[in-house]
Amino acid sequence: MIEDSFGRVHDYLRISLTDNCNFRCFYCMPEEEYDFTPASRLMQKDEIVALAKIFVAQGVKKIRLTGGEPLVRKDAAAIILALGKLPVELVITTNGTRIAEMLPVLKEAGIKTVNISLDTLQPDKFMLITRRDVFHQVRSNIELLLQEKFTVKVNVVVMKGLNDGEIRDFIEWTRHNTIQVRFIEFMPFSGNKWTSNKMFSYQEILDEIGKAFSVLPVKGALHDTAKGFMVPGHEGSFAIISTMTAPFCSTCNRMRLTADGKLKNCLFSDGETDLLTALRNQEDVLPLIQASIRSKKKELGGQMVPNFEELDANAINNRSMITIGG
Ligand code: SAM
Ligand code: SF4
Repeated sequence: MIEDSFGRVHDYLRISLTDNCNFRCFYCMPEEEYDFTPASRLMQKDEIVALAKIFVAQGVKKIRLTGGEPLVRKDAAAIILALGKLPVELVITTNGTRIAEMLPVLKEAGIKTVNISLDTLQPDKFMLITRRDVFHQVRSNIELLLQEKFTVKVNVVVMKGLNDGEIRDFIEWTRHNTIQVRFIEFMPFSGNKWTSNKMFSYQEILDEIGKAFSVLPVKGALHDTAKGFMVPGHEGSFAIISTMTAPFCSTCNRMRLTADGKLKNCLFSDGETDLLTALRNQEDVLPLIQASIRSKKKELGGQMVPNFEELDANAINNRSMITIGG
């Protein structure tokens, strides 16, 4: 069992397969020219599986594959199939571009839930956000997953003046579709030019939806980061991830392994533990994992102020989201 000093048991591991991506979402990637990590410094397939097994032996029940874009990695299929053999719930977060070709692999690996990022329902705005002209491809891949009876969650980072005007359109989308739309508060990371006035808060999102729909809360599971809601009569549902204004740290069970094999005990931790080098040196990795999680701070990596409006994003010591693995 992996437990921190606050008694939180950690049984959910998020593994970043790569910091490479076929999109350039401005809120995720640093603006300056970004060099992707060379392949030799990334965890290799067998190293990912070896590290995952150590976590699973310590009670990890769920593994999420993320990135960067996990499905652009050349050996993504082999990694997914190998991890699919472990006794865990395997899930993935993707930008949705490579779903059609990867569908047989996702099925064979036993993946049942796919989170897809889609911040807008407008093709032009999609291009502005991602700098790629593939809106219709992502939309049709979402349809494909629904036809194939996957559970589909759509991640929407809400940014003031950019896509807050589309919140109700996303809710309308849930009327005849069994998707769960997850509105995410915009978070500060290295190089993403976060300012508090670009944030659209949990309460603002709820108020915006309340103008057009009646909303009921849905009781969630203990470790849910998203607060769930339903609109009566809609086939789908929605949730809000309120990291900035109402953090859910008290029940956190998450650990993150970056693509270069560093363990982060919190999305906002300023430190990390190098598991890959230890593995390559044939050292015992478990004590490193335990020490990292024991040193986890109570809330938000100990780096945030209680009032996000006073937050100086430049003072936060962290990686960019694309190199952490969201
Ligand atoms: N490429 C995949 C994707 O886009 O789904 C997986 C990696 S991405 C880093 C994981 C999630 O992090 C996405 O849903 C993305 O929208 C979210 N994300 C990235 N930067 C963010 C930020 N600054 N604030 C909130 N969410 C962010
Ligand atoms: Fe790529 Fe996902 Fe980041 Fe967009 S959010 S740049 S798709 S990793």
